[in-house]
Amino acid sequence: MPHTAERLHAFTESVIRGMTRLANAHNAINLSQGFPDFDPPEELLAALERAARGPHHQYAMTWGAPRFREALARKINRFSGLDIDPDRHLVVTCGSTEAMMVAMMTACNPGDKVIVFSPFYENYAADAILSGAEPIYVALRAPGFDYDPAELERAFAQGVKAIVVCNPSNPTGKVFRREELLHILALAERYDAFVITDEPYEHIVFAPHEHVYFAALPGAFERTITCNSLSKTYSITGWRLGYVQAAPEVIAQARKVHDFLTVGAAAPLQEAAVAGLELPAEYYAGLRNLYAGKRKLFLEGLAKTGLRFTEPQGAYYVLVDISPLGFAIDTEAAEWMVREIGVAGVPGSSFFREPENRYLRFHFAKNEATLCAAIERLQQLASPIRRKWPQR
Ligand code: GLN
Repeated sequence: MPHTAERLHAFTESVIRGMTRLANAHNAINLSQGFPDFDPPEELLAALERAARGPHHQYAMTWGAPRFREALARKINRFSGLDIDPDRHLVVTCGSTEAMMVAMMTACNPGDKVIVFSPFYENYAADAILSGAEPIYVALRAPGFDYDPAELERAFAQGVKAIVVCNPSNPTGKVFRREELLHILALAERYDAFVITDEPYEHIVFAPHEHVYFAALPGAFERTITCNSLSKTYSITGWRLGYVQAAPEVIAQARKVHDFLTVGAAAPLQEAAVAGLELPAEYYAGLRNLYAGKRKLFLEGLAKTGLRFTEPQGAYYVLVDISPLGFAIDTEAAEWMVREIGVAGVPGSSFFREPENRYLRFHFAKNEATLCAAIERLQQLASPIRRKWPQR
């Protein structure tokens, strides 16, 4: 049998998606892969029913149905203050997952270096490798997950083609401050690199923190490739709707990558999602409040376990320090947690470049009842029961 491509041996299947399969197999409460267990807004469901009976069952225009792109541009402009032209600045993709791959393939030649902050959302390294680029890592250090400016500049000085900035950040919950983003921009200008941002949690930010749109920083637009998705904002992760937003010269190239990869995102779903993009400002305020409530509930529950954890400024992930449980390998802890406690999280090691086995990542994008049930199960982690567990 012939050998499969070398580059595929440089990374594994997604640990996040694997944990969902394990959770389902054991009937555990799934706080691993980040997606809600509640419905999208009623407006979207009604629009989906209408779309089913409409004329949208064949290919949409490859870079996005015009009606969807127009609504998307209006929504982006409303929040970012940018002046996005639906015909020149956008490519609609299958989730931010495809958007990131398109961005990476559009920006990078084989052999180019791409800066990725560690910890990082696991797709970034795979995206870089699949596009022939080499990820180089700069640490975000707990507890604040700040980077060392000198370390970042040394990374840029290696001659990088792009930096990936996930903001609000998965898995740390860091919301990058304006000064940090301006510093990243200044370095990207000095070393002439693209900034590829991934911003699906733009509307899940906890006061007093605020989301800053990188592309809207002074002078940033030309070198910023923004990747984003409707998944988290409208609770439609299964609809697979995302987009790349960039300067027209970049978009002209990105369209080609997208067209030959997937042709397009699902036409009836683009049609239905317009109803989400047209929701009023109160919807987004409501979403923030909803997640602020879930965050409070979940963090208070976690506090009772006696374990230490990160307090996210944005997004909906918490890194829990499980070192007191005595597992040397976090994947074993995660499997044990699914089987014995009935709660699934993601082993932290899948987000870190550095050898790191201290964390499990849990998310709180769940109904109150689900979160309460998870918290109740997690109370078993509180001492003294803890001492009875396998010590390695
Ligand atoms: N971003 C989500 C997470 O980190 C999952 C996204 C996905 O699986 N495509 O869990």
